[in-house]
Amino acid sequence: MLEADLLSRIHDVAIIGGGINGAGIARDASGRGLSVALIEANDLGGATSSASTKLIHGGLRYLEFYAFGLVRKALAEREVLLDIAPHISWPQSFVLPHSPGDRPEWMLRAGLFLYDNLARRKIVPGSTRIDLRQDRAGRALSPSFSRAFRYWDGWVDDARLVIANLQDARDKGALILPRTRVVRAEFDGDLWTLSLGDGSHLKARRIVNAAGPWASEVARSVMDRNDAPALRLVQGSHIITRRVHLGRDAFMLQQPDGRIIFVIPYERDYSLIGTTERDIATPEAAAITAEESDYLLAAANRYLSRPLTRADIVHSFAGVRPLILEQGKGDRETTRDYRLVDHEGVPAMTVVGGKITTYRVLAEDVLKRIAPKSKPWTAGTPLPGGAVEKLRGETGQQAFKRWLDNLVAEQENYDPKLVRRLALILGTAAEPLLTTGLGMNVGGLFEAELDHYVRNEWATCADDVLWRRTKMGLHIDNAGKAEVARWFGEVPGPAEPELPFTHRFATPGG
Ligand SMILES: Cc1cc2nc3c(=O)[nH]c(=O)nc-3n(C[C@H](O)[C@H](O)[C@H](O)COP(=O)(O)OP(=O)(O)OC[C@H]3O[C@@H](n4cnc5c(N)ncnc54)[C@H](O)[C@@H]3O)c2cc1C
Repeated sequence: MLEADLLSRIHDVAIIGGGINGAGIARDASGRGLSVALIEANDLGGATSSASTKLIHGGLRYLEFYAFGLVRKALAEREVLLDIAPHISWPQSFVLPHSPGDRPEWMLRAGLFLYDNLARRKIVPGSTRIDLRQDRAGRALSPSFSRAFRYWDGWVDDARLVIANLQDARDKGALILPRTRVVRAEFDGDLWTLSLGDGSHLKARRIVNAAGPWASEVARSVMDRNDAPALRLVQGSHIITRRVHLGRDAFMLQQPDGRIIFVIPYERDYSLIGTTERDIATPEAAAITAEESDYLLAAANRYLSRPLTRADIVHSFAGVRPLILEQGKGDRETTRDYRLVDHEGVPAMTVVGGKITTYRVLAEDVLKRIAPKSKPWTAGTPLPGGAVEKLRGETGQQAFKRWLDNLVAEQENYDPKLVRRLALILGTAAEPLLTTGLGMNVGGLFEAELDHYVRNEWATCADDVLWRRTKMGLHIDNAGKAEVARWFGEVPGPAEPELPFTHRFATPGG
């Protein structure tokens, strides 16, 4: 159906916000036969949902706050996501070094025992105790650390998870409108009319406001609702540095102030270090500060055998956690769970809080309320790119690994690294691209690849591709980035210093 026809029809649901929560709801609702429109002010996944630590995790540290329900829900979901998105997610091991003065060892052991057993596990291994003097992971750490635990969680490319959900929603008939702001939503007793930033209008029976850190603001100023809970906006920042890891383990590092910092192997050549927590007034204000960078460097250096300096930072980013404001609680104790708020007297709901990890169950909860007779379906259905045939007894992860090994063998004319790079972004969609040919090299990406991001993934500018559809912004130099910009018809900006540089946080107004 043409976009104009889709715009003129009355939608069952209009979703405001194309982060992971909006995308998950759009996918689930379209698959249940509802007609869906999703409107996103900027790039899809361009805000919080591309600025996370990218863990599919129960949240070991939330056990300290007795958040057993949330941890169990998230741990169960970890297995589901690893199974339905095997091309963009994988199990990730974490080494948790222990030293006197940290949380006592019995407490860590008890916490990990709970973590291993709160939910059924098929894909993710359990925890073990390790000797850092013998284990390879120990070589990256100062010799003063000898004891540690190794436990497992999951890792996911957050920005690609958003796109995969939206591709499925679109394939099931949803209208997806990126770079379109909802400026007003009015209810006439029967239908909502949404006024969009480009001057067009859209009609819907119901609204789901999934505007993340902007959710309260959108409820109030766009929908005229005063009954959405206040949000606590907590900025979290990450730095990306030269790789400090020798193997595949990530590190979970306890800090003297009680915080925990993750150091995660990232994009083959780098390490991702985060996160900080700092209250901010508006999402637009999010930007990493020099103090945050220094805090993260110091937190990692407390443990590393070869300390990092500012010169080792190649990139950084900041995101905003939309937490539910809980009076009297600090940022670390504030719940990471979500809440669905039905607005009084109108068919509209605001989604507040949440995690990447729980987006799919959040969507199911939304659908339980707005389409109670329909059936959940997303737990067992792979996302686009992740649907490979499973042999009997295989998990999605095992089946994908087998498929990928075959693909590398079949595509013998290509460098295996290139085949793997594309497969770990596009999943099964990499195969037809490779078979029909990738075309010209454009600054380190390929013409057919760029075409794919534009045609199938709503990319409209170099930044969309360099930082969200792929992370090639980390791997190619300024000349390569300028070539990609020219391919999009952009005039490349003034050359930035090659290192270090900061990627700005995308805001709905920007
Ligand atoms: C630093 C950090 C680390 C995190 N790490 C993890 C982690 O490791 N694992 C995990 O599970 N979770 C993690 N999270 C939490 C997770 O990232 C968020 O819960 C999730 O991304 C929120 O998604 P969302 O869709 O609600 O919001 P967003 O992704 O912010 O999407 C909301 C969208 O609404 C759009 N919007 C706003 N106003 C309008 C309007 N008027 N019209 C149209 N569109 C509008 C915005 O442009 C935005 O794209 C982390 C969060 C942060 C900040």
